Amino acid sequence: MLNVQDIRKDFPILNRKVNGKPLIYFDNAATSQTPQQVIDVIVSYYSNYNANIHRGVHSLSQEATDAYEKARITIQKHFNAKEAHEIIYTSGTTHGINLVANGFSSLLKKGDEIIVSALEHHSNIVPWQMLCERTGAILKVIPMNEDGELILADFDALLNEATKLVFVNHISNALGTINPIEYIIDRAHSVGAAVLVDGAQSCPHLKPDVQALDVDFYVCSAHKICGPTGVGMLYGKEEWLEKLPPYQGGGEMIAEVSFEKTTYAGLPHKFEAGTPNICGGIAFAAALDYMNAIGFENIAAYENELLSYATEQLLQIDDLKIYGTSEEKTSVISFNVGTIHPYDIGTILDKMGVAVRTGHHCAQPIMDFFKIPGTIRASFMFYNTKAEIDAFVVALKKAIMMLS
Ligand SMILES: *Cc1c(COP(=O)(O)O)cnc(C)c1O
Repeated sequence: MLNVQDIRKDFPILNRKVNGKPLIYFDNAATSQTPQQVIDVIVSYYSNYNANIHRGVHSLSQEATDAYEKARITIQKHFNAKEAHEIIYTSGTTHGINLVANGFSSLLKKGDEIIVSALEHHSNIVPWQMLCERTGAILKVIPMNEDGELILADFDALLNEATKLVFVNHISNALGTINPIEYIIDRAHSVGAAVLVDGAQSCPHLKPDVQALDVDFYVCSAHKICGPTGVGMLYGKEEWLEKLPPYQGGGEMIAEVSFEKTTYAGLPHKFEAGTPNICGGIAFAAALDYMNAIGFENIAAYENELLSYATEQLLQIDDLKIYGTSEEKTSVISFNVGTIHPYDIGTILDKMGVAVRTGHHCAQPIMDFFKIPGTIRASFMFYNTKAEIDAFVVALKKAIMMLS
Protein backbone atom coordinates (compact mmCIF):
# COMPACT_ATOMS: atom_id res chain seq x y z
CA MET A 1 0.00 0.00 0.00
CA LEU A 2 1.20 3.51 -0.66
CA ASN A 3 0.65 6.43 1.68
CA VAL A 4 -0.77 9.12 -0.55
CA GLN A 5 -0.59 11.89 2.06
CA ASP A 6 3.16 11.29 2.46
CA ILE A 7 3.63 11.10 -1.29
CA ARG A 8 1.84 14.40 -1.83
CA LYS A 9 4.41 16.14 0.37
CA ASP A 10 7.01 15.29 -2.31
CA PHE A 11 5.18 17.38 -4.95
CA PRO A 12 5.46 21.10 -4.16
CA ILE A 13 3.14 22.06 -7.03
CA LEU A 14 0.23 20.21 -5.42
CA ASN A 15 0.15 22.89 -2.72
CA ARG A 16 -0.57 25.75 -5.03
CA LYS A 17 -3.87 27.41 -5.75
CA VAL A 18 -5.33 28.02 -9.18
CA ASN A 19 -7.91 30.76 -9.54
CA GLY A 20 -8.06 30.92 -5.75
CA LYS A 21 -8.89 27.22 -5.38
CA PRO A 22 -6.61 24.33 -4.39
CA LEU A 23 -5.18 22.78 -7.54
CA ILE A 24 -6.71 19.45 -8.55
CA TYR A 25 -4.39 18.18 -11.24
CA PHE A 26 -6.12 15.59 -13.44
CA ASP A 27 -4.14 16.16 -16.64
CA ASN A 28 -1.50 13.56 -15.91
CA ALA A 29 -1.81 11.84 -19.28
CA ALA A 30 -0.50 15.07 -20.86
CA THR A 31 2.34 15.48 -18.39
CA SER A 32 2.97 14.36 -14.84
CA GLN A 33 4.17 16.47 -11.94
CA THR A 34 7.72 16.41 -10.62
CA PRO A 35 8.67 15.37 -7.08
CA GLN A 36 11.18 17.36 -5.01
CA GLN A 37 13.65 14.45 -5.27
CA VAL A 38 13.84 14.98 -9.04
CA ILE A 39 13.84 18.78 -8.78
CA ASP A 40 16.81 18.46 -6.37
CA VAL A 41 18.74 16.41 -8.93
CA ILE A 42 18.16 19.11 -11.56
CA VAL A 43 19.23 21.90 -9.20
CA SER A 44 22.29 19.92 -8.13
CA TYR A 45 23.36 19.32 -11.73
CA TYR A 46 23.32 23.02 -12.60
CA SER A 47 24.73 24.04 -9.22
CA ASN A 48 27.61 21.55 -9.11
CA TYR A 49 28.67 19.76 -12.28
CA ASN A 50 27.15 21.30 -15.41
CA ALA A 51 29.57 20.51 -18.27
CA ASN A 52 29.55 18.96 -21.70
CA ILE A 53 29.97 15.20 -21.76
CA HIS A 54 32.24 12.69 -23.53
CA ARG A 55 34.69 15.41 -24.56
CA GLY A 56 36.51 17.14 -21.79
CA VAL A 57 39.47 15.85 -19.86
CA HIS A 58 38.51 18.11 -17.00
CA SER A 59 36.82 16.92 -13.82
CA LEU A 60 33.45 18.54 -14.32
CA SER A 61 33.06 16.95 -17.72
CA GLN A 62 34.02 13.59 -16.23
CA GLU A 63 31.44 13.95 -13.47
CA ALA A 64 28.71 14.91 -15.92
CA THR A 65 29.63 12.04 -18.25
CA ASP A 66 29.66 9.55 -15.38
CA ALA A 67 26.27 10.68 -14.09
CA TYR A 68 24.76 10.63 -17.58
CA GLU A 69 26.04 7.13 -18.33
CA LYS A 70 25.06 5.89 -14.88
CA ALA A 71 21.56 7.17 -15.62
CA ARG A 72 21.53 5.16 -18.84
CA ILE A 73 22.22 2.03 -16.79
CA THR A 74 19.38 2.89 -14.40
CA ILE A 75 17.09 3.18 -17.41
CA GLN A 76 18.44 -0.08 -18.87
CA LYS A 77 17.78 -1.92 -15.58
CA HIS A 78 14.32 -0.43 -15.27
CA PHE A 79 13.26 -1.73 -18.67
CA ASN A 80 15.38 -4.88 -18.32
CA ALA A 81 17.25 -4.27 -21.58
CA LYS A 82 20.10 -6.69 -22.16
CA GLU A 83 22.68 -3.99 -22.93
CA ALA A 84 23.05 -0.36 -21.87
CA HIS A 85 23.83 0.61 -25.47
CA GLU A 86 20.36 -0.59 -26.47
CA ILE A 87 19.03 2.48 -24.62
CA ILE A 88 19.17 5.56 -26.85
CA TYR A 89 18.47 8.91 -25.25
CA THR A 90 15.89 10.91 -27.20
CA SER A 91 14.04 14.14 -26.66
CA GLY A 92 10.88 12.10 -26.06
CA THR A 93 8.47 9.61 -27.57
CA THR A 94 7.93 11.61 -30.74
CA HIS A 95 11.67 11.78 -31.41
CA GLY A 96 12.06 8.03 -30.79
CA ILE A 97 9.30 7.17 -33.24
CA ASN A 98 10.71 9.48 -35.89
CA LEU A 99 14.18 8.02 -35.42
CA VAL A 100 12.86 4.52 -36.14
CA ALA A 101 10.56 5.65 -38.96
CA ASN A 102 13.39 7.49 -40.62
CA GLY A 103 15.70 4.52 -40.26
CA PHE A 104 13.23 2.21 -41.95
CA SER A 105 13.25 4.42 -45.08
CA SER A 106 16.30 2.50 -46.23
CA LEU A 107 14.89 -0.91 -45.27
CA LEU A 108 11.48 -0.74 -46.97
CA LYS A 109 10.50 -1.05 -50.60
CA LYS A 110 7.39 -0.34 -52.62
CA GLY A 111 4.50 -2.62 -51.68
CA ASP A 112 5.80 -3.43 -48.19
CA GLU A 113 3.17 -3.00 -45.50
CA ILE A 114 3.14 -1.18 -42.18
CA ILE A 115 0.37 -1.79 -39.67
CA VAL A 116 -0.68 0.80 -37.09
CA SER A 117 -3.61 0.73 -34.68
CA ALA A 118 -6.76 2.82 -34.74
CA LEU A 119 -5.89 3.94 -31.20
CA GLU A 120 -2.80 5.92 -32.10
CA HIS A 121 -1.62 9.34 -31.03
CA HIS A 122 -0.88 11.70 -33.96
CA SER A 123 2.82 11.33 -33.24
CA ASN A 124 2.40 7.65 -34.08
CA ILE A 125 0.48 8.17 -37.34
CA VAL A 126 2.19 11.02 -39.16
CA PRO A 127 5.75 9.57 -39.20
CA TRP A 128 4.41 6.36 -40.79
CA GLN A 129 2.48 8.28 -43.42
CA MET A 130 5.68 10.17 -44.22
CA LEU A 131 7.61 6.89 -44.35
CA CYS A 132 5.02 5.45 -46.76
CA GLU A 133 5.32 8.52 -48.98
CA ARG A 134 9.09 8.13 -49.09
CA THR A 135 9.16 4.40 -49.75
CA GLY A 136 5.90 3.44 -51.46
CA ALA A 137 5.00 1.22 -48.51
CA ILE A 138 1.31 0.84 -47.64
CA LEU A 139 -0.24 1.80 -44.29
CA LYS A 140 -2.87 -0.57 -42.82
CA VAL A 141 -4.91 0.08 -39.69
CA ILE A 142 -6.10 -2.34 -37.00
CA PRO A 143 -9.69 -1.23 -36.30
CA MET A 144 -11.27 -0.94 -32.85
CA ASN A 145 -14.68 -1.72 -31.38
CA GLU A 146 -17.13 0.46 -29.42
CA ASP A 147 -15.32 -0.26 -26.15
CA GLY A 148 -12.12 1.15 -27.64
CA GLU A 149 -10.43 -2.26 -27.94
CA LEU A 150 -8.43 -3.37 -30.96
CA ILE A 151 -10.13 -6.10 -33.02
CA LEU A 152 -7.50 -8.81 -33.01
CA ALA A 153 -9.15 -11.01 -35.64
CA ASP A 154 -8.82 -8.08 -38.05
CA PHE A 155 -5.19 -7.66 -37.06
CA ASP A 156 -4.53 -11.34 -37.84
CA ALA A 157 -6.17 -10.87 -41.23
CA LEU A 158 -3.91 -7.89 -42.05
CA LEU A 159 -0.69 -9.81 -41.42
CA ASN A 160 1.16 -11.36 -44.35
CA GLU A 161 4.69 -11.70 -45.78
CA ALA A 162 4.58 -8.07 -46.95
CA THR A 163 4.16 -6.84 -43.35
CA LYS A 164 7.45 -5.33 -42.26
CA LEU A 165 6.50 -3.22 -39.27
CA VAL A 166 3.76 -3.06 -36.67
CA PHE A 167 3.28 0.05 -34.52
CA VAL A 168 0.98 0.16 -31.59
CA ASN A 169 0.74 2.04 -28.35
CA HIS A 170 0.91 0.01 -25.16
CA ILE A 171 -1.83 2.14 -23.62
CA SER A 172 -4.05 4.63 -25.47
CA ASN A 173 -3.70 8.20 -24.24
CA ALA A 174 -7.23 9.11 -25.34
CA LEU A 175 -9.13 6.14 -23.88
CA GLY A 176 -6.77 4.41 -21.46
CA THR A 177 -7.14 1.01 -23.17
CA ILE A 178 -4.28 -1.40 -22.39
CA ASN A 179 -3.50 -3.14 -25.66
CA PRO A 180 -2.59 -6.84 -25.78
CA ILE A 181 0.92 -6.14 -27.01
CA GLU A 182 2.22 -9.61 -26.08
CA TYR A 183 -0.18 -11.10 -28.61
CA ILE A 184 0.55 -8.42 -31.21
CA ILE A 185 4.32 -8.87 -30.89
CA ASP A 186 4.03 -12.65 -31.11
CA ARG A 187 1.82 -12.57 -34.21
CA ALA A 188 3.91 -9.88 -35.94
CA HIS A 189 7.06 -11.92 -35.37
CA SER A 190 5.39 -14.96 -36.91
CA VAL A 191 5.47 -13.15 -40.28
CA GLY A 192 8.90 -11.63 -39.66
CA ALA A 193 7.70 -8.08 -38.95
CA ALA A 194 9.37 -5.80 -36.39
CA VAL A 195 7.28 -4.18 -33.65
CA LEU A 196 7.62 -0.72 -32.15
CA VAL A 197 5.59 -0.07 -29.02
CA ASP A 198 4.77 3.48 -27.92
CA GLY A 199 5.04 3.30 -24.16
CA ALA A 200 4.36 6.97 -23.42
CA GLN A 201 1.18 6.12 -21.49
CA SER A 202 2.16 2.75 -20.07
CA CYS A 203 5.42 3.70 -18.35
CA PRO A 204 3.68 5.87 -15.70
CA HIS A 205 1.57 2.89 -14.65
CA LEU A 206 3.57 -0.27 -15.18
CA LYS A 207 7.12 -1.52 -15.59
CA PRO A 208 7.67 -3.02 -19.03
CA ASP A 209 10.23 -5.82 -19.40
CA VAL A 210 11.48 -5.44 -22.96
CA GLN A 211 13.20 -8.82 -22.99
CA ALA A 212 10.17 -10.70 -21.69
CA LEU A 213 7.99 -8.85 -24.22
CA ASP A 214 10.54 -9.65 -26.94
CA VAL A 215 9.69 -6.24 -28.39
CA ASP A 216 11.98 -4.80 -31.08
CA PHE A 217 11.60 -1.12 -30.18
CA TYR A 218 10.00 0.58 -27.19
CA VAL A 219 9.78 4.35 -26.66
CA CYS A 220 8.69 6.69 -23.88
CA SER A 221 9.01 10.25 -22.52
CA ALA A 222 10.40 11.12 -19.08
CA HIS A 223 7.87 13.91 -18.51
CA LYS A 224 4.99 11.44 -18.15
CA ILE A 225 6.92 9.48 -15.50
CA CYS A 226 7.63 12.30 -13.00
CA GLY A 227 10.70 13.44 -14.96
CA PRO A 228 11.45 16.62 -16.93
CA THR A 229 10.27 17.47 -20.45
CA GLY A 230 12.56 17.19 -23.46
CA VAL A 231 14.05 13.79 -22.70
CA GLY A 232 13.01 10.21 -23.26
CA MET A 233 14.36 6.93 -24.44
CA LEU A 234 14.28 4.55 -27.35
CA TYR A 235 14.97 0.93 -26.55
CA GLY A 236 15.97 -1.08 -29.59
CA LYS A 237 17.23 -4.63 -29.88
CA GLU A 238 20.91 -4.45 -30.73
CA GLU A 239 20.51 -6.22 -34.08
CA TRP A 240 17.86 -3.70 -35.14
CA LEU A 241 19.81 -0.66 -33.99
CA GLU A 242 22.83 -1.94 -35.91
CA LYS A 243 20.67 -2.22 -39.05
CA LEU A 244 19.20 1.27 -38.84
CA PRO A 245 21.23 4.15 -40.29
CA PRO A 246 21.88 7.21 -38.07
CA TYR A 247 19.04 9.70 -37.90
CA GLN A 248 20.91 12.97 -37.50
CA GLY A 249 24.47 13.92 -38.31
CA GLY A 250 26.65 15.94 -35.96
CA GLY A 251 29.06 15.78 -33.09
CA GLU A 252 29.06 12.72 -30.78
CA MET A 253 27.78 10.34 -33.46
CA ILE A 254 30.94 9.96 -35.51
CA ALA A 255 34.07 7.85 -35.19
CA GLU A 256 36.15 9.61 -37.87
CA VAL A 257 35.35 12.50 -40.17
CA SER A 258 37.01 13.66 -43.34
CA PHE A 259 35.45 15.45 -46.31
CA GLU A 260 35.61 12.21 -48.27
CA LYS A 261 34.00 9.93 -45.75
CA THR A 262 32.69 9.74 -42.23
CA THR A 263 32.49 6.57 -40.18
CA TYR A 264 29.86 6.45 -37.51
CA ALA A 265 30.33 5.79 -33.86
CA GLY A 266 28.99 2.56 -32.37
CA LEU A 267 25.82 2.24 -30.29
CA PRO A 268 24.41 4.20 -28.60
CA HIS A 269 26.35 7.25 -29.84
CA LYS A 270 25.45 6.63 -33.50
CA PHE A 271 21.97 7.92 -32.66
CA GLU A 272 22.98 10.67 -30.25
CA ALA A 273 24.24 13.52 -32.39
CA GLY A 274 24.98 16.83 -30.72
CA THR A 275 24.94 17.85 -27.08
CA PRO A 276 22.10 15.95 -25.45
CA ASN A 277 19.81 16.93 -22.61
CA ILE A 278 22.41 15.88 -20.05
CA CYS A 279 20.59 17.11 -16.97
CA GLY A 280 17.36 15.66 -18.38
CA GLY A 281 18.86 12.19 -18.75
CA ILE A 282 20.14 12.25 -15.18
CA ALA A 283 16.78 13.51 -13.88
CA PHE A 284 14.94 10.86 -15.93
CA ALA A 285 16.82 8.15 -14.02
CA ALA A 286 16.07 9.93 -10.73
CA ALA A 287 12.36 9.86 -11.64
CA LEU A 288 12.52 6.12 -12.27
CA ASP A 289 14.27 5.65 -8.93
CA TYR A 290 11.53 7.67 -7.26
CA MET A 291 8.73 5.62 -8.78
CA ASN A 292 10.48 2.32 -8.14
CA ALA A 293 10.86 3.25 -4.49
CA ILE A 294 7.07 3.55 -4.29
CA GLY A 295 6.71 0.36 -6.34
CA PHE A 296 4.81 -0.13 -9.57
CA GLU A 297 2.51 -2.77 -8.06
CA ASN A 298 1.49 -0.29 -5.38
CA ILE A 299 1.03 2.41 -7.99
CA ALA A 300 -1.14 0.23 -10.23
CA ALA A 301 -3.29 -1.05 -7.35
CA TYR A 302 -3.92 2.46 -6.05
CA GLU A 303 -4.60 3.98 -9.46
CA ASN A 304 -7.08 1.19 -10.23
CA GLU A 305 -8.91 2.10 -7.04
CA LEU A 306 -9.04 5.74 -8.15
CA LEU A 307 -10.26 4.68 -11.59
CA SER A 308 -13.12 2.51 -10.23
CA TYR A 309 -14.11 5.15 -7.73
CA ALA A 310 -14.15 7.98 -10.27
CA THR A 311 -15.97 5.85 -12.86
CA GLU A 312 -18.70 5.03 -10.34
CA GLN A 313 -19.10 8.66 -9.28
CA LEU A 314 -19.19 9.99 -12.83
CA LEU A 315 -21.71 7.44 -14.09
CA GLN A 316 -24.22 8.78 -11.55
CA ILE A 317 -24.38 12.02 -13.52
CA ASP A 318 -27.27 12.17 -16.03
CA ASP A 319 -26.31 12.00 -19.69
CA LEU A 320 -22.65 11.40 -18.94
CA LYS A 321 -21.05 9.03 -21.42
CA ILE A 322 -17.61 7.47 -20.96
CA TYR A 323 -15.58 6.60 -24.06
CA GLY A 324 -13.18 3.73 -23.65
CA THR A 325 -14.82 1.00 -21.63
CA SER A 326 -12.34 -1.83 -22.04
CA GLU A 327 -11.92 -4.19 -19.08
CA GLU A 328 -8.20 -3.58 -19.46
CA LYS A 329 -7.63 0.11 -18.91
CA THR A 330 -5.60 2.52 -16.82
CA SER A 331 -6.63 5.60 -14.88
CA VAL A 332 -7.84 7.71 -17.80
CA ILE A 333 -11.51 8.67 -18.16
CA SER A 334 -12.65 10.31 -21.37
CA PHE A 335 -16.22 11.53 -21.29
CA ASN A 336 -18.87 13.94 -22.50
CA VAL A 337 -22.04 15.24 -20.90
CA GLY A 338 -25.07 15.42 -23.19
CA THR A 339 -24.39 17.86 -26.00
CA ILE A 340 -22.34 20.29 -23.91
CA HIS A 341 -19.07 21.16 -25.61
CA PRO A 342 -16.09 19.68 -23.72
CA TYR A 343 -14.22 22.98 -23.94
CA ASP A 344 -16.97 24.83 -22.05
CA ILE A 345 -16.89 22.35 -19.20
CA GLY A 346 -13.07 22.41 -19.12
CA THR A 347 -13.06 26.20 -18.87
CA ILE A 348 -15.45 26.28 -15.93
CA LEU A 349 -13.59 23.46 -14.17
CA ASP A 350 -10.40 25.49 -14.46
CA LYS A 351 -12.10 28.39 -12.68
CA MET A 352 -12.68 25.94 -9.84
CA GLY A 353 -9.05 24.82 -9.76
CA VAL A 354 -9.54 21.55 -11.65
CA ALA A 355 -7.11 20.84 -14.50
CA VAL A 356 -8.48 18.42 -17.10
CA ARG A 357 -7.75 18.06 -20.79
CA THR A 358 -10.40 18.82 -23.39
CA GLY A 359 -10.25 18.25 -27.12
CA HIS A 360 -9.18 15.44 -29.41
CA HIS A 361 -6.08 14.47 -27.34
CA CYS A 362 -3.94 14.21 -30.47
CA ALA A 363 -6.10 11.28 -31.51
CA GLN A 364 -8.51 12.72 -34.08
CA PRO A 365 -9.27 9.32 -35.70
CA ILE A 366 -10.61 8.04 -32.37
CA MET A 367 -12.91 11.07 -32.09
CA ASP A 368 -14.08 10.51 -35.68
CA PHE A 369 -14.87 6.88 -34.79
CA PHE A 370 -17.20 8.00 -31.99
CA LYS A 371 -18.45 10.93 -34.15
CA ILE A 372 -17.59 13.52 -31.50
CA PRO A 373 -15.43 16.65 -31.68
CA GLY A 374 -13.56 15.73 -28.53
CA THR A 375 -13.93 14.69 -24.92
CA ILE A 376 -13.11 15.83 -21.43
CA ARG A 377 -10.29 13.69 -20.14
CA ALA A 378 -9.49 13.23 -16.47
CA SER A 379 -6.35 11.20 -15.87
CA PHE A 380 -5.04 10.20 -12.45
CA MET A 381 -1.62 9.46 -11.01
CA PHE A 382 -0.65 7.87 -7.72
CA TYR A 383 -0.51 11.29 -6.00
CA ASN A 384 -4.21 12.00 -6.64
CA THR A 385 -6.87 11.24 -4.01
CA LYS A 386 -10.50 10.20 -3.69
CA ALA A 387 -11.15 13.53 -1.98
CA GLU A 388 -9.96 15.28 -5.14
CA ILE A 389 -12.30 13.11 -7.21
CA ASP A 390 -15.18 14.14 -4.92
CA ALA A 391 -14.32 17.82 -5.34
CA PHE A 392 -14.02 17.33 -9.10
CA VAL A 393 -17.47 15.72 -9.28
CA VAL A 394 -18.99 18.61 -7.31
CA ALA A 395 -17.29 21.11 -9.64
CA LEU A 396 -18.44 19.17 -12.69
CA LYS A 397 -22.05 19.17 -11.50
CA LYS A 398 -21.86 22.94 -10.99
CA ALA A 399 -20.45 23.38 -14.49
CA ILE A 400 -23.24 21.26 -15.97
CA MET A 401 -25.87 23.34 -14.14
CA MET A 402 -24.37 26.56 -15.46
CA LEU A 403 -24.29 25.26 -19.03
CA SER A 404 -27.68 23.55 -19.31
C1 LIG B 1 2.27 11.93 -24.92
C2 LIG B 1 2.25 10.85 -25.92
C3 LIG B 1 3.09 10.87 -27.05
C4 LIG B 1 4.00 12.04 -27.35
O1 LIG B 1 4.96 12.20 -26.37
P1 LIG B 1 5.95 13.47 -26.46
O2 LIG B 1 6.59 13.50 -25.12
O3 LIG B 1 5.11 14.65 -26.74
O4 LIG B 1 6.90 13.17 -27.57
C5 LIG B 1 3.04 9.81 -27.91
N1 LIG B 1 2.22 8.77 -27.71
C6 LIG B 1 1.40 8.70 -26.64
C7 LIG B 1 0.52 7.52 -26.45
C8 LIG B 1 1.38 9.74 -25.72
O5 LIG B 1 0.56 9.68 -24.66
